[in-house]
Amino acid sequence: MTNRTPVIAGNWKMNTDVESGIELATGIVGLSKDVSGVEKIICPPFTSIERVSVAVHGSTIHVGAQNVSANSDGAFTGEISTSMLKGFVSHVIVGHSERRAMNGETSEQVGAKAIAAAAAGLSPIVCTGEDLDVRNAGDAVQFVSEQLEQSLSGFSAWESLIVAYEPVWAIGTGEAATSDQAQEMAAVCRGVIRNLAPEAAYSVRVLYGGSVNSGNVVELLDQPDIDGALVGGASLKAEEFSKLRAAAGE
Ligand code: PEP
Repeated sequence: MTNRTPVIAGNWKMNTDVESGIELATGIVGLSKDVSGVEKIICPPFTSIERVSVAVHGSTIHVGAQNVSANSDGAFTGEISTSMLKGFVSHVIVGHSERRAMNGETSEQVGAKAIAAAAAGLSPIVCTGEDLDVRNAGDAVQFVSEQLEQSLSGFSAWESLIVAYEPVWAIGTGEAATSDQAQEMAAVCRGVIRNLAPEAAYSVRVLYGGSVNSGNVVELLDQPDIDGALVGGASLKAEEFSKLRAAAGE
């Protein structure tokens, strides 16, 4: 047992429009009233953030963004800065594998986003994870160590940081990592933090993400280095997400 408060964060990805986002958030708030002992975050698309943050106001649900620019302002068409998010969100996901793969985000860029988020008082949720080829080659530990180290290079606001280990092969596939695999890699992530900032290694929350649902969350969160979950598909149904959060709080 650690005294790190578990975190359950829902990544809605490019799902929900404004109206259905408000409906989902309202459903989650309604089902969250009795869930304590767990930090709850929902990350809607940018266009819903303002209305969702109003919908959850006064509840224990936090709102996060799915991405942010490392730049503060200027000629960056289509980008969203930390100052545009401030006041609406408390957290921001950076370096999700979908952005690394589809938008070519490098770990250096992810690191710059994490630094910008923390400087603006937002908690970055820094994602890392290997794909299937890397795992099958037996290189997962080395890959994740290097990717996370590069993604945290220059980072110093350790008290704001959350790390999410998300094996690419487990995201959206229905095939979660086993609890042993997830624990091994969460420990690797904590080891990276220990090397960079020994004083922060105990307190930083390390989440697992990849096909988490209400059926497997307890076993995953029972692992000593796993402090919560980043959840995609299962966060889009208020009831399933609430079951999952309740299980995490127990
Ligand atoms: C994710 O996108 O971060 C994720 C973990 O998705 P899923 O839960 O659907 O695998």
